[in-house]
Amino acid sequence: MKRIAVLTSGGDAPGMNAAIRAVVRGAIYHKMEVFGIERGYEGLINGNIDKMEVCSVSDIMQRGGTCLKTARSKRFMTPEGFGKAVETLERYEIEGLVVIGGDGSYRGGLELAKAGKTVIGLPGTIDNDLVYTDFTIGFDTAVNTVLSAIGNIRDTSSSHERGTVIEVMGRRCGDIALYAGLTGGAESILIPEEPVDMDAICETLIQGKNRGKMHSVILRAEGVEISSEELAETITQRTGIDTKIVVLAYIQRGGSPTARDRMLASRMGYRAVELLLQEGMTSKAVGIKGDEIVSYDLEEALNMKKTHDKSLMNLAKILSI
Ligand code: ATP
Repeated sequence: MKRIAVLTSGGDAPGMNAAIRAVVRGAIYHKMEVFGIERGYEGLINGNIDKMEVCSVSDIMQRGGTCLKTARSKRFMTPEGFGKAVETLERYEIEGLVVIGGDGSYRGGLELAKAGKTVIGLPGTIDNDLVYTDFTIGFDTAVNTVLSAIGNIRDTSSSHERGTVIEVMGRRCGDIALYAGLTGGAESILIPEEPVDMDAICETLIQGKNRGKMHSVILRAEGVEISSEELAETITQRTGIDTKIVVLAYIQRGGSPTARDRMLASRMGYRAVELLLQEGMTSKAVGIKGDEIVSYDLEEALNMKKTHDKSLMNLAKILSI
């Protein structure tokens, strides 16, 4: 392959810039021409595409967000918009497209693959909700951001001897709540993969209160059946602990990527280039299993079913007694 392109799509994630940098510099190193498409599939439809050079990606690795900007594109899901997107790829003679994004962006990539294009997916999303890979780019940074927020909230909630429900992102996948809750010593963690046991939550909080605990942190992923308001009210009523709510929202998306995310993005970005260099390469999704960078057929990766591993949740429960 001689001409490839890269875009970021869907929600932004820290580390997307490091991935773009690895794709651009990896491609140039291997004597390919590389184009950057702005604003995801919307930019592909509008022809917002420019050639990238080594210096186009200077000084971006440490920044959150994405230098190519991102978008959600309804037009891409219409036959007319999709046709225009394909036209842009053909006009610029793009032979391989690297899509950095989440599940939705991959589904868009799969449509392009079905239309005969070669697409390589890189998992750029803080949610860690792509089943085929152990970790996604941005997840580690988001967990560390939540961890830092837990620390700050603990200071004030200890002083006031109150509880705090901290709401974090995760509609279908509770990994941000689970990893930040476990490493931040939360008293309770609520994730969409497990039913809410209100009795157990209140029991843990009362036990802590009786032992003289000054604060309690309850981490709730946004996709959990009970709302943060209902949760806080029920806890206050049943335990007597005054419980407030903090919604972290978009704070979790920003910030300088951790070394771990930069490493993951750099390795995955370069693997995308390596795959595109292979003769007759078909569309793939790049991931990590253990410490190994792996790739699967794009459609196969999207169809993998999630199995919930209860071991981390059990560990968190044991350690929060
Ligand atoms: P995040 O996980 O951060 O939400 P995402 O990639 O899942 O990121 P989406 O908004 O779901 O974000 O998808 C991004 C874009 O991908 C959509 O705006 C749309 O243009 C395209 N897309 C999503 N689903 C499909 C689909 N089934 N077919 C074609 N295109 C799709």
